[in-house]
Amino acid sequence: MQYFSTNKQSPKVGFKEATLMGQAPDKGLYFPAVIPKLKKDFIAEINSYSKEEIAIEVIKPFVGNSISENDLQKIVTATVQFDFPLIKIGEDISSLELFHGPTLAFKDVGARFMSRCLGYFVKGNNKKITVLVATSGDTGGAVASGFYDVPGIDVVILYPSGKVSSVQELQLTTLGKNIKALEIDGNFDDCQRLVKQAFADEQMKKDIFLTSANSINVARWLPQQFYYFYAYKQWQDKGNPPVISVPSGNFGNICAGLLAFHSGLPVRQFIAACNENKVVTEFLQTGNYVTKKSVATISNAMDVGDPSNFVRILELFNREFQSLKKVLSSYSFSDSETKSILKEVYLNKSYLLDPHGAVGYAALRKYLNNHPHHKGLFLETAHPVKFYDVVEPLIGEKIPVPAAINELLTLSKKSIKIPAKYEELKNYLLSQN
Ligand SMILES: *Cc1c(COP(=O)(O)O)cnc(C)c1O
Repeated sequence: MQYFSTNKQSPKVGFKEATLMGQAPDKGLYFPAVIPKLKKDFIAEINSYSKEEIAIEVIKPFVGNSISENDLQKIVTATVQFDFPLIKIGEDISSLELFHGPTLAFKDVGARFMSRCLGYFVKGNNKKITVLVATSGDTGGAVASGFYDVPGIDVVILYPSGKVSSVQELQLTTLGKNIKALEIDGNFDDCQRLVKQAFADEQMKKDIFLTSANSINVARWLPQQFYYFYAYKQWQDKGNPPVISVPSGNFGNICAGLLAFHSGLPVRQFIAACNENKVVTEFLQTGNYVTKKSVATISNAMDVGDPSNFVRILELFNREFQSLKKVLSSYSFSDSETKSILKEVYLNKSYLLDPHGAVGYAALRKYLNNHPHHKGLFLETAHPVKFYDVVEPLIGEKIPVPAAINELLTLSKKSIKIPAKYEELKNYLLSQN
């Protein structure tokens, strides 16, 4: 597979180069030159495929021959080592639980796949690679866990001070070894801006081989397609495909779903479920794409004012607004609406949502109220315990803590606090080299 840059000013590259570089030299995002078409039998017979077989079938065209078949098998098997259950929580709504991985959020799949691909590509290299990543909360933990102790790779994570949950912070600041956490005195957009500046710094890149583990990296973005196939496999009424609601921030996950749809996966409608950061919701209403400064919410992994993957969605639809609107709807919810949905679903359905899943549920509910003959699922993108600080006061109960988190809570954070200034980041990176 060849990948072109969405800015069209850089040469096409293969999967290996796209993974190593993260972003294209012209600052565009890499995008597959062709959208592979799924075999008809694959969809018709999906129930006879294992989750590993589904993953291989989906990802193989994108990887091409840059990884041997045998090694790709191993990478994929290690990537999807946990469950992705579809849980029915009402007559017309199910929850696809994507929080059964090691850091209890969906980003584990992308981070595990990417770290293993990168590890494969740098084997035998004598130059160290530095993975630089900005996180609004969950990316940091997933990337830290995915890359922990991978030889030849250092990871530097930038996170906004005081704006991630305590579990999230511990997940990214306690591993040590090749994982370094920079606590930025600013918000997520500041973190993302600093990372972009580092990638644009040609002088520094002569000394340090930098790559990104944000969902702009194709190796993190593409495997997120698996979720949508796992959902469809478990979907009972194959003749009436699901409406799928995706809690969205940087729009990598939903873009992977839309890519799967373009390859032939049956989906009735996609819904981008947003919090108060609603650039895309407003775009679909007005046709005007106006980025904003992000505002802090209780679904903090979605606090993105300028979603980097949206350009890929436009690319998928040839930048045709009307055809995009037919497939993609979007709703936005305030924190108080999110809280009341979370409470209501817990009381009436005995199902505990996390704040991101609550936004996903709310958006799906709203869509189905207007389309009563359809049924749907939302992606439950994180375990509620990750946000116990928000969730417990709402339900007035303690959330049972999984063993992995209990252990985490006994550790103490190690981070380096720096102002949101590029010079500070640069000095740090050069000092590490
Ligand atoms: C990252 C994240 C999101 C947003 O996903 P995008 O791919 O950035 O749109 C939603 N929910 C949770 C829990 C997340 O960690």
